[in-house]
Amino acid sequence: MTAAFTVSAEEAGARLTVDLGAIARNYRALAAMTHGAECAAVVKADAYGTGIETTAPALADAGARTFFVAHVSEARRLRAVVPAATIYVLNGLFAEALDIYARHDLRPVLGSREEIERFGAFCRTTGRRSPAAIHVDTGMNRLGLDMAEAALIAEPGPQALAFEPALLMSHLACADDPGHPLTARQIDRFAQVRALFPGIAGSLANSAGCTLPATHHDLARPGIALYGGRYRADREPLEAVVRLEAPLIRVRDVRAGDTVGYGATWTATRPSRIGIVSVGYADGYIRATSASDTRTGASVRVAGRACPLAGRVSMDLLAIDLTDAGAVKPGDPVTLIGDGIGVDDIAQPAGTIGYEVLTSLGRRYHRRYIQD
Ligand SMILES: *Cc1c(COP(=O)(O)O)cnc(C)c1O
Repeated sequence: MTAAFTVSAEEAGARLTVDLGAIARNYRALAAMTHGAECAAVVKADAYGTGIETTAPALADAGARTFFVAHVSEARRLRAVVPAATIYVLNGLFAEALDIYARHDLRPVLGSREEIERFGAFCRTTGRRSPAAIHVDTGMNRLGLDMAEAALIAEPGPQALAFEPALLMSHLACADDPGHPLTARQIDRFAQVRALFPGIAGSLANSAGCTLPATHHDLARPGIALYGGRYRADREPLEAVVRLEAPLIRVRDVRAGDTVGYGATWTATRPSRIGIVSVGYADGYIRATSASDTRTGASVRVAGRACPLAGRVSMDLLAIDLTDAGAVKPGDPVTLIGDGIGVDDIAQPAGTIGYEVLTSLGRRYHRRYIQD
């Protein structure tokens, strides 16, 4: 395995701290919510940006035995750090990579008749009835067999399959929105599907589903809640996991009427103090969080105070209105995520979700793992 490129504290523009203790506590909170079922951990997209090599072993230490990733490449990285875990590949069968599943003991999540046939044929050639999950679509209309296809596959009985059907799963589309009628329909349809495949473990719950016992079945699959993101519109997230801090690299005074940044979209309405930090959209600080004369953007915290962005986020820099922050100087710390600013608070002005903020976290940060 090639080592990831790491950025030292001295050369970085910002420091990202990932709290493995918070991840472990969030895992245990979700396992308690889903008690009676096994609680897996979804670690796709580099464990939602937190770093799969470090986060997955912390989750295993907290009790996770089953992991889900999206890609085979992620599964291979994961296998290197959690040798004993059960690993499922959500995006199905990467047809050119069949031998990689076998070599690293990875379980594909099979979601079409072609995938089921192809994996069955592969198992016949290897002479091993390898385990896999069967994904049935109950309303997302993305991956998964439709209900009629599932019935056809189930008809001859699970023993007729050339692979071992270890898990039957489906994915909720709207469980973060309490009372959305699609969730009840998906719960009903999944019950019908399970009746077609008696004796096979079932999995339906994502993070939001962990709060809905009717979705627990045998195995819950939380992702975002582990990492401190909002998982239900009407609930506060679990414990915050990431913290992003950067020093002010420049502080300057501007006059009323001066503009800041590309496009001159933000105008000082009073004599103002502007601070600059070495973080931009190339670091995953989403450009859509920008502030202008007509729109409030994201904010950061300086010396305990909320300070709004001033102007557009550029590739490598962003500007902050420090006018109300009191005496500040270059080198003083700015908190971009943390101290009450959650990933969802950055997502909101950008019109996106905490998931995107987390999975965009940049490669130029100095990364530090703590176990608070
Ligand atoms: C990403 C994903 C999850 C986890 O969803 P969260 O909303 O992050 O909890 C679970 N199951 C599947 C199939 C997924 O793709």
